[in-house]
Amino acid sequence: MVEKFDVVVVGAGPAGVSAAIVTARAGLNTVIIERGNIPGEKNLFGGVLFKHPFEKLIPDFVKTAPLERKVVEYQYWILLDDSFIKLVYRDDAFENNPSGYTALRAKFDAWYAKKAQEAGAMLITRTQALEPIIKDGKVIGVNTDRGELFGNIVIAADGANSLLAQKAGLHDEWKPHQLALGVKEVIEVQRTKIDEMFQVKTEEGVAATIIGGPLKGMTGGGFLYTDREALSVGIGVLLSDLVSNNIRPNKLYEKFKRHPAIYPYIKDGILKEYSAHLIPEGGYNAIPKLYTNGMMVVGDAALLVNVVGWEGTNLAAESGILAGETAIYAHKVKDFSANVLKIYETKLRNSFVLRDLRKFRRIPPFLYKNKHFFSSYPEMLRDILRLWHTVDGEPKEIKIKRIRDVIISKVGPIKLIKDISDLIRGILF
Ligand SMILES: Cc1cc2nc3c(=O)[nH]c(=O)nc-3n(C[C@H](O)[C@H](O)[C@H](O)COP(=O)(O)OP(=O)(O)OC[C@H]3O[C@@H](n4cnc5c(N)ncnc54)[C@H](O)[C@@H]3O)c2cc1C
Repeated sequence: MVEKFDVVVVGAGPAGVSAAIVTARAGLNTVIIERGNIPGEKNLFGGVLFKHPFEKLIPDFVKTAPLERKVVEYQYWILLDDSFIKLVYRDDAFENNPSGYTALRAKFDAWYAKKAQEAGAMLITRTQALEPIIKDGKVIGVNTDRGELFGNIVIAADGANSLLAQKAGLHDEWKPHQLALGVKEVIEVQRTKIDEMFQVKTEEGVAATIIGGPLKGMTGGGFLYTDREALSVGIGVLLSDLVSNNIRPNKLYEKFKRHPAIYPYIKDGILKEYSAHLIPEGGYNAIPKLYTNGMMVVGDAALLVNVVGWEGTNLAAESGILAGETAIYAHKVKDFSANVLKIYETKLRNSFVLRDLRKFRRIPPFLYKNKHFFSSYPEMLRDILRLWHTVDGEPKEIKIKRIRDVIISKVGPIKLIKDISDLIRGILF
């Protein structure tokens, strides 16, 4: 196949499809190429999907999208070998206006890609982009395993393992501490049982973020989300930590799901899906160059993941929208050079995407360097709670002294103060 389009989008995830909806609606001749048999087939996320960018494109998004449950409760779990601590936040405010919905990507991505087709974009599946076609310093198309496709603008939305951006010279190979490996299972559990276990109504859901336990001392975390008739359970750990701990992700996940805090929820469930996927976690300082002559990079391919909020799909969709808008302008002025496409970066900088990532720029390196956050602190909390809740006639005065000793032995007062001030600096300032 040799064809010429206005816009060639590589990848039918949230970033690519959002870009294609925008450009196709503006009347640009748009094609999406996707390596899977159907969009979403090989995609996975935790996952909570935040509706805000999607609603901009599809006003009746919540009514029409294949969403699982609206999240009305957020839980934070700290696992220890022999115990666990849970913080539960449920808010009636999310009953009527939830921000996040659990979703399954196989269903969601296929539905979302149809919206791009309805807008007029062409979708070509089972086609893998191999490299950008570059002529006179400009990206003018992509070479695929089924032939060449030409376009005024290429939008690289090919996810965490983006070949296109790398081959266009926008970044070097990612380092193992900039990528996490996510492993996830979808476990079928009766709808009524989920409602009962989590004390929710059928359309309501719970999102649990989990650290520690078998993931102790590794930069990463786990999750448990309620789908309509299944639980999504998984972990994500930096590749560098998997290597240095010499542990296979599937082994780690097995241990994780057997933890007494998790196992009771899934023990009677039926495994429906098992998959693994990379998560770009390098943060703001690792973001590659976002555009070049004839090409823009969006979503995970541009490392647009907020590890503090566990957000990726909304940053992907928003970046796709902004790249789409830039492509429309470039066609208006008939200039597809970096000089015009740099508008995409300006738009991104003014949006929540780069503002959030910039705000939290110190957090990914901080978490990477301070692994005691994932070991000493959970243990310290457990020891404090254990001491406090062991009511045995020991005077509280002595207990408080012992609690002080725990803090000193696990972290130390100076380190504790430094960690708190670094975290406050990293998040608030
Ligand atoms: C375990 C895990 C848990 C997560 N949890 C959450 C969560 O709870 N909430 C959240 O918002 N985000 C979460 N994320 C992140 C989120 O999934 C991503 O940020 C988001 O999917 C990025 O969208 P994208 O369109 O940029 O890339 P993707 O969704 O990865 O889509 C890329 C698409 O490109 C296709 N493709 C790739 N290479 C080629 C090629 N060469 N040729 C043709 N097609 C190609 C792929 O098949 C895919 O369809 C999670 C991720 C993981 C792995």
